[in-house]
Amino acid sequence: MTDRYAVFGHPIAHSKSPLIHVAFARQTGQAMTYEAILAPLDGFADSVAQFIAAGGRGANVTVPFKEQAFALANRLSPRAEHAGAVNTLAFDADGIFGDNTDGAGLVADLVRNLNCGIAGKRILLAGAGGAARGVIGPLLDQHPAALVIANRTVSRAQELAELFGHGIRACGFDGLDTPFDLVVNATAASLAGELPPLSPRLFTADTLAYDMMYGRDTPFLAFARAHGAATADGLGMLVEQAAEAFYLWRGVRPDTAPVIAGLRQDRLEGESLAASPLRGLRT
Ligand code: NDP
Repeated sequence: MTDRYAVFGHPIAHSKSPLIHVAFARQTGQAMTYEAILAPLDGFADSVAQFIAAGGRGANVTVPFKEQAFALANRLSPRAEHAGAVNTLAFDADGIFGDNTDGAGLVADLVRNLNCGIAGKRILLAGAGGAARGVIGPLLDQHPAALVIANRTVSRAQELAELFGHGIRACGFDGLDTPFDLVVNATAASLAGELPPLSPRLFTADTLAYDMMYGRDTPFLAFARAHGAATADGLGMLVEQAAEAFYLWRGVRPDTAPVIAGLRQDRLEGESLAASPLRGLRT
């Protein structure tokens, strides 16, 4: 029987994960299928149990089930434990293993694809939600000179700073006005077409401004560009977190560059990205 994988979410029709994993499987010659499963909002664990009973070997998990996936796993990777959320599940005779590949995906995109080393850099992470929490550990592992977490609700940034330690500074957006080497927008502001209230002084010609949102230009990227920064969206992170999950399941690392290029040019087989009304919204 061909090995089965899936992504669970609600909603899920917009997910790019099936396109990405089918491309990886073709490229690496892996015999597997990958489908999108709409789990009921009150039925995530049951949906996963049914999938396992039907031969499922692994799954990705997206909004709003990442915390439930964390609770469901009976074994966790250290990075999932730190993140408090799981985006990748693997099923075997020992039960359910939970991992979180979002942070590794961001770091791989920055370091390998964008040639933006993190060691010794000053990093501003805007946002303190699930995505921000998932990337803090992997960013710290790269030994930045400083990591500042800024959030609209300052107490949430403070909670993350206390949880991760390492001298992380937590603050609101007010009063932040010195330049950073890397500014990562992990807020959901771009989803609503909004700009977090950031000072233009954060950006210089040496700054990379990275928006985790992907698939369209955002007010954050336009603002950063207008103030001299280089910019990148989160499409590479999306593909790299998928590659890390694929490696966990299959023990093979796919070549991500053609898949990123294919998504950007809308030429991967399957649904038309350009036609999707939810283009670029979520993983
Ligand atoms: P959450 O809902 O968990 O967190 C939302 C965060 O955004 C909070 O910090 C919230 O602040 C802040 N926020 C929301 N609206 C605004 C606003 N108008 N101005 C300033 N801050 C705001 O979302 P996630 O962490 O799951 O997702 C964040 C982003 O990351 C999304 O755009 C998502 O699509 C993207 N993402 C991309 C991935 C990729 O692979 N490229 C992977 C995962 C996520 P407060 O605490 O004050 O409410």
